[in-house]
Amino acid sequence: MPSCLITGVTGQDGAYLSRFLLGQGYRVFGLLRRSASSDVVGERLDWLGIRDRVTLVDGNLVDLSSLIRAVRDCEPDEVYNLAAQSFVAASWRQPLLTGQVTGLGAANMLEALRIARPQARFYQASSSEMFGQARAPRQNETTPFHPRSPYAAAKLYAHWMTVNHRESFGAFACSGILFNHESPLRGIEFVTRKITDGVARIKLGLARELPLGNLEARRDWGHARDYVRAMWLMLRQDAPDDYVIATGRTTSIREFCRLAFYYAQLSHEDHVVAGPGLLRPAEVDVLQGDAAKARRVLGWEPTISLEDMVAEMVEADLARHRARMRA
Ligand code: NDP
Ligand code: GDP
Repeated sequence: MPSCLITGVTGQDGAYLSRFLLGQGYRVFGLLRRSASSDVVGERLDWLGIRDRVTLVDGNLVDLSSLIRAVRDCEPDEVYNLAAQSFVAASWRQPLLTGQVTGLGAANMLEALRIARPQARFYQASSSEMFGQARAPRQNETTPFHPRSPYAAAKLYAHWMTVNHRESFGAFACSGILFNHESPLRGIEFVTRKITDGVARIKLGLARELPLGNLEARRDWGHARDYVRAMWLMLRQDAPDDYVIATGRTTSIREFCRLAFYYAQLSHEDHVVAGPGLLRPAEVDVLQGDAAKARRVLGWEPTISLEDMVAEMVEADLARHRARMRA
């Protein structure tokens, strides 16, 4: 039975990847950082009904000793490094923490593997945010990077450390440059989930307005369920490499609002307002990925449309709020 260790197992991607790998017959270990709210941190695994099937091990990305211990104990064939301070807006308020977790944390994991488990295959969760002020209309593996936030700068360090372990030590280390991907399990602070949650509240009479920042920014949004499959495919290849994962379609925040409100028979123009303090010090205006290499080499294709994802997210938020109202 193959085994894997997933850092960030309590996050959106960690939960979907766990379920996917369990389905592929893996023994799944998940790194769990100590929290005073340990009763709620497994909520996403619960939502997918797999909490009992994932073996949780103590550890924190900023504590190299804990990573070495985890790797020694779990003896994973594959390690997926998904843990991060992953919210761009927070990275200006906590830039050093973001650097320590999102940047150095990845280097710690690579070192832990180099010391204790060099044969393990490694996946690094890189981000389209690294393209930032993108220098090509559609970004692929050859597009130059121009990070626009402490988060993106930290991810870029982690990306190059991954490449460097491959080139220096022959590690089977892959960097997946994933464009934004969402789902009902997306953190509520990200714009898509904030919108679908807002739509549900307004529909149920719990709120009247939804404060948002820049509505003109555009993102290439896919579904997390599709994207975790790409992570696994990267580690299935004969040689390690880096891949862009994207849908190729770019949509504005305003258009996402229109779709989500329309799904609930509401109009975004009646409810979306300018929220104070939601504009960022530097913005990534447009992202649109070109995943031709992933299609060609991995045989990967997105299968879930933006419209279907919006519907799934709005339905899930309506169900959550209805359940809370009944409780
Ligand atoms: P989430 O924010 O949902 O999950 C982040 C995870 O990291 C959580 O499990 C969190 O644990 C964990 N974590 C944070 N700090 C530490 C730490 N110091 N030690 C150990 N674990 C820690 O992110 P997503 O699932 O959305 O994304 C997964 C990865 O992919 C992230 O690295 C993200 O930056 C990257 N990415 C995501 C994209 C997206 O659109 N979703 C796009 C491109 C890249 P806890 O539950 O305790 O907070
Ligand atoms: P990001 O691409 O990783 O930064 O993902 P987010 O979902 O946090 O943000 C996507 C885009 O939505 C960015 O351009 C934000 O400026 C924009 N945006 C507009 N209003 C909001 C808001 O209220 N919250 C968030 N998180 N983003 C917003």
